[in-house]
Parts: sequence; C-alpha cells; structure tokens
Amino acid sequence: MNLDVNTLFLVTIYVEAILGLLLLFAWAQNMAVRAVAWWGFAHLLRAASIVLFGMYGTAPDIITIDLANAVLFTAFAVTWTGARVFDGRPVEPVYLVTGAVLWLLVCRLPVLNDAIEVRGLIASGIITGYTWLTAYEFWRGRKEQLVSRWPAIFMLFAHGALFLLRTPLVSMLPFSMTADKMFGSVWLTVLSFEALLFTISIAFILLAMAKERTELRHRTAAMVDPLTGIANRRAFLHDAAAMAKHHLADPLPTAVMLVDLDHFKSINDRFGHAVGDRVLEVFTAAASEAIRPNDLIGRIGGEEFAAVLHDIKSVEAVAVAERIRETFAHVAQVVDGRPVNATVSIGLVHCDGDVLDIAELLSQADQALYFAKENGRNRVEVASLEMILRRNDEALAPLTGAEPVQVSAA
Ligand code: GH3
Ligand code: MG
Ligand code: MG
Repeated sequence: MNLDVNTLFLVTIYVEAILGLLLLFAWAQNMAVRAVAWWGFAHLLRAASIVLFGMYGTAPDIITIDLANAVLFTAFAVTWTGARVFDGRPVEPVYLVTGAVLWLLVCRLPVLNDAIEVRGLIASGIITGYTWLTAYEFWRGRKEQLVSRWPAIFMLFAHGALFLLRTPLVSMLPFSMTADKMFGSVWLTVLSFEALLFTISIAFILLAMAKERTELRHRTAAMVDPLTGIANRRAFLHDAAAMAKHHLADPLPTAVMLVDLDHFKSINDRFGHAVGDRVLEVFTAAASEAIRPNDLIGRIGGEEFAAVLHDIKSVEAVAVAERIRETFAHVAQVVDGRPVNATVSIGLVHCDGDVLDIAELLSQADQALYFAKENGRNRVEVASLEMILRRNDEALAPLTGAEPVQVSAA
C-alpha cells in the first residue's frame, strides 16, 4: 500500500488545525491549565508549517523549506514551553526561538546549500532536541502522580528518537536523495504517517494530563487544609481508617496523639487573627518535622491537631510528643515579631492490641488532653486506666452527687 503524500499532507493540515482549535477550546473552558493554550497554539503552528511545505515547487524554497522548517521548529518549541508552563516553570523566550534562528542561519551558510543530508540531520536534531526536552520536563515533574505523564514521556521520547534516526535510515537505504525522489519515496509516506499518528496521540495525551491535573487538584483541595497544607479532618479520619485496616493484617504498636493550642483565643484577641493563623502554620511545621514520613497528621479542628504514629513504642511516642511540645514552645515565643509565647497541650494514648479502634483511641487521647489542660497546659499526658475511671466519675458526679475519685497524677 502506498499512501499519496499530497493526501497525507492535506489530512495532516486538517487534523493539526482541528486539534489546535480543540485544545484552545478546552483551554477556554478551564483557563487554570495555561499549558493547554500553548499546546493548542503549537498544533496551529504545525498546521501552518505543513501548508508552507505543501507549497513546495509553487513558491520559493526560502518559504517552502527555510521558513516552513523554522515554523515547524517553533511549533515543537512551543509544545516544550507548554510542558514547562504545565509544571510551573518559566517560559524561556530565547530557547523558544533558538531552533528557528539556528536553522535560518544554517540555511544562509553557502557550504550547506547542497548538503541536503546535513541540513536534514540538523533539522531532525532540532526537532529531537525539543521533543526530548519536552519529555524531560514531564519527567522532572513526575513527583506529581499523573498516570498520563508516563505515556506522554514515552511517546515524546520515541518520536524524538525516530526523528533523529530518520536521516541515517533514509541515507542507508538505496534511494537517491534528489528532492523529487524524496517526495516520492515510501519513507516520506511512512514518516508523514507516523507524524500524523503522533500528533493525534500527543494531543489526546496532553489533554488527558490537563484533565487529570484538574481532577487531582479538586480531590486534593477537598482533602487538604488550605491554611496548613496538611490533611483536614475528613482526610485524616479516612487515612487513619485505612491504617487501622492495614493494622489488622500486620499489627504493630501504635500511638494516637491529640494536640490543642493553649489559650489560642487570647492569642487571637491580643495579636489578631492573622498572627493566630501564622501560629497554626508554625505549629504544623514543628509537628511535621518531629514525626516520621509514614505517620499521619491532620488538622481536625480550628486549633486542634491529631496524629497517628504507627510502629512505635510507648516511650518513643512520649518522646515525640515531648519534642513537638518543646520545639513549638521554643519557636512560637516570637511569631511575626510579636511576643506570642504560644504553647500546646498534648493527650497521648498507646495501643499494643491487634485492633486499632481509631474512634476509641481518639476519645482516650481526648481524655488525656483534658488532663493536660487541667494540670496546667504546655504538657503531655498519657491516657491511663485511672484517667478513664476518673473522667467517668466526674461525668457521673452531677447526677449522683458523689465527689470525683482522686487519683495521683499518672
Ligand atoms: P484552651 O487552652 O482551653 O484550649 O483555650 P483556647 O482559647 O485555645 O480554646 P477555645 O476553644 O476557647 O478557643 C479556640 C479558638 O481558636 C477560638 C477560635 O477563634 C480560634 N480559631 C479557630 N480556628 C482558627 C483559625 O483558623 N485561625 C485563627 N486565627 N483562630 C482560630
Ligand atoms: Mg480547642
Ligand atoms: Mg485551645
């Protein structure tokens, strides 16, 4: 089968233009992902370059070869810039036009006038360069877990490799490289066809990436506390439930911690809400520093935080809680230049059992926290059986008229 190159050119122009417009349309609907506009523009530029290529023979070579290639390279540079914008990197105006400028300079060199293979190699090199740079940008951003990132990297890498091999492949085969033969060669058909399939696939994948990013951001926004950037109450309880489930299969000693800032209302009243917010951020930083990467932490109320420390001995958990308390008391002495002297009270409970009942552990940690407040604040209390009994007695006292049972401090 031999596809007619002219037909392929026409189809490619049409497809590139439609894809460009579709991407711009998608961007107009959700302008948050600006990269989509860059990618749409890249497709339109490619359509324009193919129009110029298609005029070969009817217009001067300076337009159908020199300018057409310059526009084509800029299209690949625009796709690359879109990848940078996608991952929050700045636009590089100089590198954006480097390929086109380099090409136009090369075209002016008299020595390369007839060296069609060398020029072909330079052209392929520029396209491969931009395509691989695009793949590299996506790879650099791989920390953001988008599934569609990987097919994008693979496609771009493979397409770049094919472009680089194009000239050596063609010259190895017994085709003469006169312009007429080249246009008639089966290779041009194959390569044009590959370019067409690539452009369709990459547009589809880039759009999928933008969509996946938007969905991920929405999901994250629903789970993350906007002030401190840690899990909100819902996400924390969700993650803790998942941890409890995992614990059933592999039970390990676990600690649950509840933290409440001391006299926080007074901090707000004396220094203003903005300073109060900063204090919450300072606490989050101190606590996040003290726990291990696999521990859970969340903001479960206005000035209340909770943490689950998995695979930890009782003494170690107390040490972590003490470290959080001490570090915070130190770093929160002065916040935003104000003598805030904020402190926290911490209630801790440790569990050695096979079942992690998160609701029960949070309730016990809450009782320990209550005692931490009662015993003067800026302290850590560990839940104990006496504590639970005493709390129950206190709760019943108004009903029975009985005095609460006094126990010595834990
Ligand atoms: P205690 O030591 O007994 O815990 O006293 P407290 O003042 O910390 O406790 P209380 O529950 O009376 O006050 C909590 C305050 O936290 C009241 C509320 O205005 C403040 N708060 C809740 N959420 C935020 C927030 O996001 N930012 C700021 N700045 N303040 C908040
Ligand atoms: Mg509170
Ligand atoms: Mg408080």
